[in-house]
Amino acid sequence: MRGLLLVSAVALALAAPASAHAFDRPSPGAAGIGDRLYPTLGNGGYDVQHYDLDLRYATSAPSQGIDGTVTILAVATQSLSRFDLDFAGDSVGKITVNGLPAKFTQDGEDLVITPKLPLLKGLPFIVQVSDYTAHPVVPDPNNLLGAPFFITPDGSATAGQPNGTHTFLPSNDHPRDKATFTIRFDVPAGEPAFANGTLLSKSTSRGRTHYIYLMRQPMATELIQLAVGNYTAIDRGRHNGLPIRDVVAPSLQTLLADKLPLETDHIDWMENWVGDYPFDIYGSFVVDSLLGFALETQSISLYDRGWFDGTYGPGAGTWEPTMVHELAHMWFGDSVAPYEWSDLWLNEGHATWYQFLFASQNGELEENIGIADFTELYQVIYSLGDIYRAFLGPVAVPPSGEPADLFSQQPYYGGALVLYALRQKVGDATFQKIERTWVQRYEGKSASTADFIDLASQVAHQDLHAFLHAWLYDTKTPPMPGHPDWTVDPVDSAAARVQSAAAPRELRVLPKR
Ligand SMILES: [Zn+2]
Repeated sequence: MRGLLLVSAVALALAAPASAHAFDRPSPGAAGIGDRLYPTLGNGGYDVQHYDLDLRYATSAPSQGIDGTVTILAVATQSLSRFDLDFAGDSVGKITVNGLPAKFTQDGEDLVITPKLPLLKGLPFIVQVSDYTAHPVVPDPNNLLGAPFFITPDGSATAGQPNGTHTFLPSNDHPRDKATFTIRFDVPAGEPAFANGTLLSKSTSRGRTHYIYLMRQPMATELIQLAVGNYTAIDRGRHNGLPIRDVVAPSLQTLLADKLPLETDHIDWMENWVGDYPFDIYGSFVVDSLLGFALETQSISLYDRGWFDGTYGPGAGTWEPTMVHELAHMWFGDSVAPYEWSDLWLNEGHATWYQFLFASQNGELEENIGIADFTELYQVIYSLGDIYRAFLGPVAVPPSGEPADLFSQQPYYGGALVLYALRQKVGDATFQKIERTWVQRYEGKSASTADFIDLASQVAHQDLHAFLHAWLYDTKTPPMPGHPDWTVDPVDSAAARVQSAAAPRELRVLPKR
């Protein structure tokens, strides 16, 4: 069924307003969506359905910025006298709401928009931000979140997670508000341009090439990919009906020639565990830069060259499990997005789970993480449990939204350890059923830690609330079912081991023992 382009599905998933309470007194929408870690990220009072981006890149220079217009279709969830969009780019030309000019001011990283007429609860509205500008910056591996829109030797690209997309796109920049996307590029004639989803059209006239991409499944703003520059597309045809297309820096083509094609094996492997791949296309996007991370931009996973050229490790045990990790995110993190950023373990714990499982089955675990045996690896992570909880917070309670606090070892290894404990508790068959049911029930939606606990209990036919709550929220590591002999290191003796714990995204840092 995949690969079918149902454009009409996008054509406005606009149900008739179910409950237009025309007499609600209009009031301002909240300046944040209500995320403990990022109080002003996202906005209240509306629910975006679709983003239509029209992005002009005037020249082919890698430092070329965007001159863009974004048209947003949203539904008011309260009657609104004004509302915000997140934006921290360079400038805004003008804003209209339902075609009428609207007043706006910039307040920190919010555009505060006052429509000419109030917006009524339950009714759709269209806000258009015209001629906004944003520019890419040079990435710095020591400042992992410092360049959401970044320059590469060949062009530019994006890595918005967790809160960077609004530096280059006015948006409701929180994964709780997913939407479909049309992404249009207007670039110098012949310039390659790639985005999430499927290419609908490409045409060249009067010295400019125009592309239209469609991301038909709902996507969180943090997962957008805008890859414009001298990148090479490698079309690998269809794999069981799914189009596979990689995008690589020309300088890396030889290095990657025997590596990227393995992604079809990885898709088969993941589908065998959790069911059908959730999007219309998949591929890898590899830039000739050192970013210090890989990122699961939806349907087009982003890697820097360091994963493949030996910088982050010598062999297949470095890049192959990482490719599986990013692919696993298509189900865990992308199709099912976090309700708030404290739920990051739902993304990273699952992605790390399948990363280690794949590495273990393919003899790559020792190279990937330093320990060859799957069970011994979890015993080591278990032994660090109290240290992680003391310094990095409980698994589902990151101490802050700072990169070192959010993307610490805890959501990755601690999150995978929670899944190991759950599997020990309910058995492998039930665990697999929980995983499959999770990605089916919440496909295309945002879901919370509480949703996961509820679903696990339901599927397992046992009340797992106390069990999972202890694993996710307690400051002490619970006993491991089935391994009464496993012990937890005291916090004071090994504190130093965690001081180096600011683990870059998707990088492997685990003390060997
Ligand atoms: Zn990840």
